[in-house]
Amino acid sequence: PETHFGFQNVSEAERREKIYQVFENVAEKYDVMNDSMSLGIHRVWKDILVHKMNPSPGTLLVDVAGGTGDIAFRFLNYVRSVRERQLQQKLRHHQNLSWQEISKSYQEEKSNPLGDSQVVVCDINKEMLKAGKKRAQHLGYSEVVAVHAEKKHECFTIADANRSGLSWVLGNAEELPFDDDKFDVYTIAFGIRNVTRIDLALQEAYRVLKPGGRFLCLEFSHVSNPLLSRLYDLYSFQVIPVLGEVIAGDWKSYQYLVESIRRFPPQEELKAMIEDAGFLKVDYQNLNSGIVAIHSGFKL
Ligand code: SAM
Repeated sequence: PETHFGFQNVSEAERREKIYQVFENVAEKYDVMNDSMSLGIHRVWKDILVHKMNPSPGTLLVDVAGGTGDIAFRFLNYVRSVRERQLQQKLRHHQNLSWQEISKSYQEEKSNPLGDSQVVVCDINKEMLKAGKKRAQHLGYSEVVAVHAEKKHECFTIADANRSGLSWVLGNAEELPFDDDKFDVYTIAFGIRNVTRIDLALQEAYRVLKPGGRFLCLEFSHVSNPLLSRLYDLYSFQVIPVLGEVIAGDWKSYQYLVESIRRFPPQEELKAMIEDAGFLKVDYQNLNSGIVAIHSGFKL
């Protein structure tokens, strides 16, 4: 069947291949480009996503199309800070704890600062994962495990054994290499737009979530304010490809980026697609007048 790549009509297989090339080309410069093109605002959007998730220690997250790990690192930092706060509260509210109990709480926190939380970054692109793993090493994550998951079960066992709470899995959002009912939360940030069969990706999200689990999608969307929309168009079509050329030497990849945003279903349409996949209590929050939206749904 035919689909599009930007404004070109291509076959599904061709589109997948072209998108693979886009992210293969930009992988090394991806983080720098993100900051320069969004003027750093993507960081705020991603922070809002993780705050909305509000994960508690013990949460098992799969971040699909996770690329270089932006959501994963935020998730781990968030959980760590929740754990710390919980410990401080415990100590403050139990003034008559013995020193043995205080020391035990500290030791527990120190030996398991994530409270058994795990995040699995899943992406189709080897180069993006490679850039993410390099970044993890720079940030001091020592037990980073690369899992090339072709078989469903094997992959998850290895991820479970990874004590740093972070693992990287090569996989397609349309056919996730995980068992059913595994995760508490599924996130996809600036990823679903690149997936050829969005309906399949949503079905897979539903399948891998535990009953009660939450789906969260952060994606470019459609701006309702006409003046802002004009300015945004101007910036997108005139500035972004130029920045792409100057910083990454790659005009075409960034032209694709802009075109794919324009082609992506608007807020209400995406909401209906998420409901069609079986999710309940689906809603969305526009950020910056709809430049970006966060869709949320539950498997109930
Ligand atoms: N989530 C990261 C972030 O917010 O910085 C990366 C987003 S990046 C714009 C899009 C990512 O989607 C790329 O890493 C790309 O390889 C990945 N991707 C595209 N198609 C995919 C698919 N079918 N399954 C999994 N990942 C896919």
